[in-house]
Amino acid sequence: MEEFIARLLDLQECDREIDRLKADLESIPREMKIHRKDTEGHEAKFSLFKDNLDEIRNRQKKLTGDRQDNVARIADYKSRLISLKSNSEYTAMLKQITHTEKMNDQIDNMILEAMYEEDEALQVLERALKDRDRAVKRSAIREESLSAKLKDLEKSLDDIQVRRSEISSKVDTKRLKMYEKSRSTGHREVVTGIKHGSCGGCLTKIPPQKAGEIKGGKTYICPLCGSYVVWTSDSSF
Ligand SMILES: [Zn+2]
Repeated sequence: MEEFIARLLDLQECDREIDRLKADLESIPREMKIHRKDTEGHEAKFSLFKDNLDEIRNRQKKLTGDRQDNVARIADYKSRLISLKSNSEYTAMLKQITHTEKMNDQIDNMILEAMYEEDEALQVLERALKDRDRAVKRSAIREESLSAKLKDLEKSLDDIQVRRSEISSKVDTKRLKMYEKSRSTGHREVVTGIKHGSCGGCLTKIPPQKAGEIKGGKTYICPLCGSYVVWTSDSSF
């Protein structure tokens, strides 16, 4: 293998590693976003259940208030009974008292129902609170490890970029330009190995005689994809 090809091969290895690291780096903010969304979902659920409980408690307060008003009203009606002159007034007031007492019976039932509802809502809320806390904790742990991973990846990327510039400084400018141009157009295997007698880049069959020459160290450019085809440790005819 000619020296410049060996260098291009090293450079290509670096670039592959850089691509991998960059892809990993890009996946981290995405994953963090997923965790945050999960936590937000739990928060929203919790606040919904909390609103429900508040509504039940407000209803209870209102019912209790209504009930007290009715009790006061009944007491007032009763106090006025003795001062009533006519029978019809008396009967009407008694009716009013009975009606108000009935209303309070209904209110008592509603208060009891609201108490059961409150119990249930409280249990649901407690479960949601536990779920939320668990999700927040899980997210925090995951985010911490993702931040650590981010730092590691950034460090690795810096290191490999230093290595890359060392290698590229040793590659002939013209060949380096050609390599970079080729890569920038999406060609990821500027230097490729023979795989089962074919070009590793585009799988075009290479004549056996040529393959033999490549094995012997001769430079070969694939006529179809333009890759430098070399003999690598996993190459075969
Ligand atoms: Zn090819």
